[in-house]
Amino acid sequence: MSGGEASVLVVEDEPQMLRFLRTTLVSQGFQVLEAMTGKDAIEAVAFRNPEVILLDLMLPDMDGLDVIRTVREWSHTPIVVISARGREDDKILALDLGADDYLTKPFGTGELFARIRVSLRHAVKAASDEQAVFVAGDLTVDMAKRQVTVGGEGIHLTKREYRLLITLIKHADRVVTHRQLLQEVWGPGYETELPYLRVYVGQLRRKLEPDPARPRLLLTEPGVGYRLKAE
Ligand code: CA
Repeated sequence: MSGGEASVLVVEDEPQMLRFLRTTLVSQGFQVLEAMTGKDAIEAVAFRNPEVILLDLMLPDMDGLDVIRTVREWSHTPIVVISARGREDDKILALDLGADDYLTKPFGTGELFARIRVSLRHAVKAASDEQAVFVAGDLTVDMAKRQVTVGGEGIHLTKREYRLLITLIKHADRVVTHRQLLQEVWGPGYETELPYLRVYVGQLRRKLEPDPARPRLLLTEPGVGYRLKAE
C-alpha cells in the first residue's frame, strides 16, 4: 500500500532503528519527520504537524511516557508506541495515557504499515462524523437502532454486553487495555475487576463468534487487553 504522502514522525534515538524506519516508510510513500529526543519530539508535534507519531519509549532525555502525557494535553495525533519485548507494564501505561497502539521489537514491516494505516484511518474518522453502522465479517452493528446481527440474524445483547461491544468498536483494530474497558463499561472504581471483563468477553464471543474457543473477531492481547478485528 502507498502512504500517499502522509507524514510520520519517527521518535527513536538508536541510529540503526531510525535508519530502518526511515527507509521503510519512505519506500512506501510516507513523508518522514525525525526526532531523537523527547524534547525534539514534542516540538515536532507542535510545529510540524505529523499525522502519525511512532514513539520509542526509551529516550535519552526523558521517558517516552512523559512525551505521551505532554502531547495528549493538546494533540489527538495518533501515537503508536515502539516498545522492547517484556516491557508489558510500559505498554499498558502508554495506552492508558492515550497512545493508540504499540509495536513490540522486533516487528515486521507488514505489522508496521498495518498499525500506521489503522491509526490514519481512525484519525480521519474521528475528524468526520461518527460511523453509524459497523460491519466486520458476518457482524453488523447499527448504532442508531442499537441492532446487532450476525449473518443477518438478530442477536440479543444485554446492556453491558452491548456497551462492551461498542467500546471495542470505537477502538476497532486497536488494542484496548483491561483498565480502559473496565473504566468505560463498568465505571470508575472497577479498573482492577478483571474477572468481570473475562466473563463478559466470553459471553460476547459465544454470541458473536462462529467458534468462541478460537475467536477471530474479539482477540486477546495477552497481558494487555483486547482488540476487535475489523480489517
Ligand atoms: Ca531508545
